[in-house]
Amino acid sequence: MSATLPSIGPRLRSRWRRRQPQDSLARDRWWLSVQLSVILTLGFGAVALFTYANALTAARRQVVESTLPLTLDALSADLQHDFVEPILFASGMAANTLLIDWVNQGEQPEAAVRRHLSRVQAEHGATTTFFVSDASRRYYHPTGVLKTVSPGSAQDAWFFRLRASSSPYEVNLDRDTADPSRTTVFVNYKLLGDDGRFLGAVGLGRSTSQLTRRIQQAERTNGIQVMFLDDRGRILLSPRRGPAPPPPLLQRAIGQQRLRDGLRDQATNAFQFRQGGEMIYVRTKRIPELNWTLVVSQPVRVPSGPLWSSLLQISVTALLTLILALLLVFRLTDGHHHKLAWLAHTDPLTGLWNRRQLDELVRSELDRADRYGDELSLVLFDIDHFKAINDRFGHAAGDRVLVELAGRVRAQLRESDGLGRWGGEEFLVLMPHSTDKEAHQLAEKLRGLVAGTPIEGVGTVTASFGVVQRRPLESAESWFRRVDDELYRAKQAGRNRVMVG
Ligand code: GH3
Ligand code: MG
Ligand code: MG
Repeated sequence: MSATLPSIGPRLRSRWRRRQPQDSLARDRWWLSVQLSVILTLGFGAVALFTYANALTAARRQVVESTLPLTLDALSADLQHDFVEPILFASGMAANTLLIDWVNQGEQPEAAVRRHLSRVQAEHGATTTFFVSDASRRYYHPTGVLKTVSPGSAQDAWFFRLRASSSPYEVNLDRDTADPSRTTVFVNYKLLGDDGRFLGAVGLGRSTSQLTRRIQQAERTNGIQVMFLDDRGRILLSPRRGPAPPPPLLQRAIGQQRLRDGLRDQATNAFQFRQGGEMIYVRTKRIPELNWTLVVSQPVRVPSGPLWSSLLQISVTALLTLILALLLVFRLTDGHHHKLAWLAHTDPLTGLWNRRQLDELVRSELDRADRYGDELSLVLFDIDHFKAINDRFGHAAGDRVLVELAGRVRAQLRESDGLGRWGGEEFLVLMPHSTDKEAHQLAEKLRGLVAGTPIEGVGTVTASFGVVQRRPLESAESWFRRVDDELYRAKQAGRNRVMVG
């Protein structure tokens, strides 16, 4: 079937193509493209959402199951080292009977207590050790007597507070003014005589730099916040902001009575709250030796770097998929459209133009001829006694004859000639730029070609031809009537001949 096109020529093909309902193709393509774009955008949008949701779940799991518990464990181990150990060492100092004896013997000689204090300081890696006597109010230090404490001094308030307290010791934190990241823990322990009388305060100070370093590192790398709360919910240490309070929401959350009681009563606790669109997860652990609660909080954040890069990947993939899908749609619709157009204009048996297409070709050639005054001729031919062929050899043989003769005729035509099946066994040749003389010559040639070679299984077949040249401005109806008349004359005259009108 496709072999017909080249013989009829690109000129005609492009002409009928121009007259196709391109609008409907464009509309179909537009709709398909819109639908496809919407579907793909929705699909890839959903993928992006799932990706974000999964990243959020993974980030939450990381915070809840890994980062927070590990940080809490590491910090409580550090607390043991930085706070609980100094308490133990100070309690050892308070249990030293030699010191008690030395106090009872009038605090003499002074060198003895200095030696004792410097030994303890070296042994426990303390930054300072001290003994303050209740009897003399002297503040003993490894280097000697530093001063005498007095109730009026704010600096010495701790001594008189401990003296009045029912607790055996007191822990104080003192931030280093030169380096705020360094904090010193002071443990002040009561030294009691054999009769339970208050003799003074012993103790030591040790740097908490390891703990503060770890807290700062956790804050830098994971956005973790660390706080220590005492029994009343007061914040004791929050190294990031120095003396400034921690984020108000967490403070407020912890300030709630119910929550504070929960934190105080239970060894560990976990809760979360929302702050500015982020979920903040909190874990707490009680340090019973200190009567403190360690609070660690962390916001769940999807790491924006990997998220953006995967969103970018999804968008690029979506765009490429869309472009490929649209290309495919355009190719398919194009192919489909041309196939439909081809079917609509072609005779399925012979592959020649059908009557509808011939009508169109004739109309456009008439226009041209009218405009440019071109000659235009028609050859109409009809197979002789075709009914008898059908009757004798069967319908299939008749079809074969039609196909065979169509092929033979087609091979003889010029590029510009239009050949089509006009009716059952009737064919039309439209010859632009041709006079009836040229058309007559062609018709004679075709007649000889049909009659010259017998068709296998059927034998010799003949056809009768009518030829007319169009008169200037002659209507299509008149022109066709005349060619039909010539064909009729050829039949009447005995068939297998050409009649020119
Ligand atoms: P004439 O010489 O006067 O043209 O006689 P004829 O028998 O050829 O003409 P008639 O019009 O009596 O018969 C035409 C026949 O062609 C009738 C119809 O069955 C047959 N025919 C039409 N189309 C086809 C087709 O596609 N295939 C076959 N096999 N036969 C067809
Ligand atoms: Mg016939
Ligand atoms: Mg006929």
